[in-house]
Amino acid sequence: MGRLICLSNRIPLGPNPTGGLVVALGDALTERGGIWIGTSGELVESPEPALREIEDGPFRRLVFDLSPEEQANYYHGFSNSVLWPLLHGRTDLLDIHGEFLTSYKDVNRRLARMLAPMLEPEDRIWVHDFHMLPLAYKLRTLGAQNRIGFFLHTPFPTPLALQALPNGAEISQWLAHYDLVGLQAVRDVRNCIAAMVEVGGATELAGGFVHLAPRQTRIAAFPIAIDATDFARLAAEEIEKLPAGIRKPDRRLMIGVDRLDYTKGVPQRFRAFGEFLARHEDWHRHVSLIQISPPTREGVAAYDDIRAETEHLSGQINGAYAEITWAPIRFINRPVPRETLAGLYRAADIALVTPLMDGMNLVAKEFVAAQDPEDPGVLILSQFAGAAEQLEEALIVNPHDIEQMATAMMTALAMPLPERKQRHAALMQVLTRHDVHWWSRGFLTALG
Ligand code: UDP
Repeated sequence: MGRLICLSNRIPLGPNPTGGLVVALGDALTERGGIWIGTSGELVESPEPALREIEDGPFRRLVFDLSPEEQANYYHGFSNSVLWPLLHGRTDLLDIHGEFLTSYKDVNRRLARMLAPMLEPEDRIWVHDFHMLPLAYKLRTLGAQNRIGFFLHTPFPTPLALQALPNGAEISQWLAHYDLVGLQAVRDVRNCIAAMVEVGGATELAGGFVHLAPRQTRIAAFPIAIDATDFARLAAEEIEKLPAGIRKPDRRLMIGVDRLDYTKGVPQRFRAFGEFLARHEDWHRHVSLIQISPPTREGVAAYDDIRAETEHLSGQINGAYAEITWAPIRFINRPVPRETLAGLYRAADIALVTPLMDGMNLVAKEFVAAQDPEDPGVLILSQFAGAAEQLEEALIVNPHDIEQMATAMMTALAMPLPERKQRHAALMQVLTRHDVHWWSRGFLTALG
């Protein structure tokens, strides 16, 4: 069995790396003497054309630097201002510039040139996410025959949306150089196959394969997951460490946790909470919403806009309804450690996971896993989160329908204990059967 070589834009740094992907890939990397490769997070004027080993950890890690120009054009530019909005169906936010695409291709070519000489024929390569779409194509150009898989952590857009990109057909061609393309949800598999056929000129074959000469690529769904058992244990420990007073006997707690991203639907969520408060005066002082939204991708205009909009809305709702001893919304614009989140999820009665579009949404899974099975909270989940395909026992909502979301908040607050327990047990069964180890094993088995 050859090594497993994983690539992702950011890799877990430090001597004891943590995070969902580390849990998912750590075992496989350790067992196979694998390597994880990604950017260093450091910017240098003239990046060395060589990978650099970082300090010892549970598995080998190699990094490369970007130049400030590459950070602007490859990362903030093509990755975050073109591919990210495109993949989430936000073609209105596309910021298309020739130099973005040129830099994106250059960085991927440089990475392929650094990687290719290291490869042994039996090595399996697993490329993660949209920053590295062309990597297989660049490696094949250099003669690599290895099995190469790609996993996209975001949704896949419709063929129509893909055509908003001047090089939409090229994306299909890049994908066709992988042996396996893994996506989060069945809807994404349908979109990807349709896009490769309609935009890229591929032929659809049986069994989830497409053919675009010279290769057949399998396109399949592998919904990413968490270690639910471990997260449940963490939440039970962490709730004890929360500050006193986070829970009040006469007050229910709603929670939202999302990077401050325009895909996450936080303005719609705030409007729905405002609508709920307007409808239910009897709930004033008896329910509050903690929204944790660490800033992300600052300096990209669309992110400055979403920050201004959410700050304005939370200020408006608090201004309209707050009393001396109660504020309806606590809007926190800083990252909160995942352990603290685990305790907060367990303390909360309702989670609002209402993205306009999301690859999976791990917060939804974490919230379910964190609940006390004897007195579980209720998950309100957008139909547009990949997680909705699996978490059918959540209260599924359309995040564009403010009135429906306000009604779902009332339904969740009024839900009797037996129904909460029954829904939670069903959701937990999905999460324990399909955990993060199932996810990585499934992908690697399919990659062969
Ligand atoms: N998260 C965190 N601290 C925060 C906000 C989020 O640790 O302040 C974690 C959260 O627990 C989850 C991840 O970040 O594991 C977010 O993953 P998700 O799939 O929900 O969204 P993404 O940010 O990948 O779009």
